[in-house]
Amino acid sequence: MQFRDLKKQYEALEDKINHAIMKVISECNFISGAQVHELEEELAEYVGAKHCITCANGTDALSLALMVWNIGKGDAVFVPDFTFFASGEVVAFHGATPIFVDVNPDTFNMSVESLEDAIRTVIEDGRLVPRVIIPVDLFGQPADYENIRKIANKYNLLILEDGAQGFGGRIGKSKACNFGDISTTSFFPAKPLGCYGDGGAIFTNDDTLAKELKSLCVHGKGADKYDNIKIGLNSRLDTIQAAILKVKLQAFKEYELENVNMVADKYSDILGKLVKTPMVLDGYYSSWAQYTIQLRDMDERDSLQQYLKERMIPSMIYYQKPMHRQKAFAEYDTFFFTDLSTTERLCKCVLSIPIHPYMGNDDIEQVASVIAEFRKNN
Ligand SMILES: *Cc1c(COP(=O)(O)O)cnc(C)c1O
Repeated sequence: MQFRDLKKQYEALEDKINHAIMKVISECNFISGAQVHELEEELAEYVGAKHCITCANGTDALSLALMVWNIGKGDAVFVPDFTFFASGEVVAFHGATPIFVDVNPDTFNMSVESLEDAIRTVIEDGRLVPRVIIPVDLFGQPADYENIRKIANKYNLLILEDGAQGFGGRIGKSKACNFGDISTTSFFPAKPLGCYGDGGAIFTNDDTLAKELKSLCVHGKGADKYDNIKIGLNSRLDTIQAAILKVKLQAFKEYELENVNMVADKYSDILGKLVKTPMVLDGYYSSWAQYTIQLRDMDERDSLQQYLKERMIPSMIYYQKPMHRQKAFAEYDTFFFTDLSTTERLCKCVLSIPIHPYMGNDDIEQVASVIAEFRKNN
């Protein structure tokens, strides 16, 4: 069994993907081919944003957003303590200070109370200027944007939605990757919409920001790339990746997103009585980048992982370590003000089990029955 079966997806889309790749090769338009622009239009339309700018990966996408807002030394940026490293890495990379915020134990997403606590503490401390909130749509479910927006307005902060895992999620009819002043996503192969290498995208409804972001992706170009008006990056999505993504986006819209939700529902039906299953809030819709259960403690979690492994079922621990405990952030010690105990606890008891849109009932039932068997014996 595969944790995320990309081969099954390829087999389902093989002819179309091969054709799309061969077309790019035969036309030799490897950089900035027509497919890149077509994909940007399709992605913008799908999420409901005015502009989409593709780039080299999800980390660059976050980085470019901070660059266009001139975030740097002396600025405080609020990031969940429970997320992938890149969400906080980009903040430090630009010289700003990441302030880690605790998460909600049921949704794994940024806790609004903890966020406001952290903002107040930074203001009282006086050394840093609060500028940006980076909510992460962890494991596929959008963060609580209704309340985060209220706080952003109250303290005059910008929202950068890290939708690397969130593409396809919704709150009501509003789609993820359009909740921030700028929103970003990643097309890393294992994400809800993945390509065959690295890729990313930035979304915004602001014309001026969109124009500046487009320039920053190509060496801060002015009239052309040999006229440079800003220090930028070389961060583009390859035409081949755009061509692959156009095929995959179609499948994602037509059936993949729906299928992965059926897998999640089936898991929750069976596993709900055995372990703490992930909670999707009322009116929210997840794209299930991960299906993450919670065990009693680290002992039980580690034993279950071993038990699954012995029965050839892969599982992963997302995430092993709170962000504030990563060695890379050690020099920022003085700025960790808030209570991060939920993240500390989650890191000890979470386990992500196989999920993807091509997972059949046999596999779902096998995973569930092994977990049931483990429960009976422990
Ligand atoms: C994967 C991921 C990123 C980074 O995306 P890359 O395309 O790998 O650079 C950023 N944030 C989160 C939450 C992620 O899961």
